[in-house]
Amino acid sequence: MSELNLILLGPPGAGKGTQGERLSEDFGLPYVVTGNLLREAVRDGTDLGHKAEKYMKEGELVPDEVVVEVILERVQSDEARDGFLLDGFPRTIPQAEALGEALGVLERELTAVLAIEVPDDEVVRRLSGRRTCVKAGHVYHLEFDPPKREGICDQDGSRLVQREDDREDVVRKRLREYHDKTARLASYYEERGLLRRFDGCRPPAEVNDHIRATLATLRLEERL
Ligand code: ADP
Ligand code: ADP
Repeated sequence: MSELNLILLGPPGAGKGTQGERLSEDFGLPYVVTGNLLREAVRDGTDLGHKAEKYMKEGELVPDEVVVEVILERVQSDEARDGFLLDGFPRTIPQAEALGEALGVLERELTAVLAIEVPDDEVVRRLSGRRTCVKAGHVYHLEFDPPKREGICDQDGSRLVQREDDREDVVRKRLREYHDKTARLASYYEERGLLRRFDGCRPPAEVNDHIRATLATLRLEERL
C-alpha cells in the first residue's frame, strides 16, 4: 500500500487525540486535528475563528461549509500526498461526501476509518479530567494519563489547562450533537467496507496496539 489515508472517528473523549498523536508518529502521517485548527483560529482572531467561535462555545458543530474548506485544503496539500490522519473530520454525512469527492478528484481513496467506541458516561468522566497544553493541544488526564510534572506538558513544557467546552453542560451538548449527526457515519463507512471498530475503554497502549495490528493487516492484505 503506497499510502495510508485514515480517519479517526468517535465521540468527544473517545481517545482520538491520544491515539492520533501516537499513530501519526508511528506511521509518519500528517495529523490534521480539526478541533485544534479551529481553536487556533479562534485564538488568532481570524475570519475562520470568528465564524466558528460561537458554535464551539455552545458545544454545537460548526457549519459544514466553514469546516470543509479548511480540511480539504490540508488533504489536497503536498504534505498529505503520501497519506494523512484526520481527527474530528468528517463529523456529518455532507462532510464525508465532500471528502469522498475531493479524494475522487485526486484518484485516491480512504484506507480505513478507525472508530473508537466508548459509552457516554465514560465520555463525561474523561472530559472532566482532561487537560490539554496551551502550546500544541497535547492531551493528558488527571487520573488516567497524568503528566510527569503537575500542570506541565511532558512534550513541550507548556502549561496544562482545562478546555472551556469540557465543562459538563457543554459536554452533554457535544454528546447530543455526536449522536444526532456523527454516529451515523459509522454505518456510512461500514457500508463502504472501511469501518474498523476499537474498544476505547481499554488502556491507551492497548488501543494503540489494536489499531497498529489492524493497519499492519491491511498493509499485508494489500500486498497479496
Ligand atoms: P473532541 O476532541 O473532544 O472530540 P474537538 O476538539 O474535535 O472535540 O471539537 C471541538 C469543537 O470543534 C466541536 O464541539 C465543534 O464545535 C468543533 N468541530 C470540530 N470538528 C468539527 C467538524 N468536523 N465539524 C463541525 N464542527 C467541528
Ligand atoms: P478525543 O480526542 O476523542 O476527544 P482525547 O484523546 O482527548 O479524546 O481523550 C479524552 C481524555 O481521556 C483525555 O484526558 C485522555 O487523557 C483520556 N483518555 C484517552 N484515552 C484513554 C483511555 N484509553 N483510557 C482512559 N483515559 C483515556
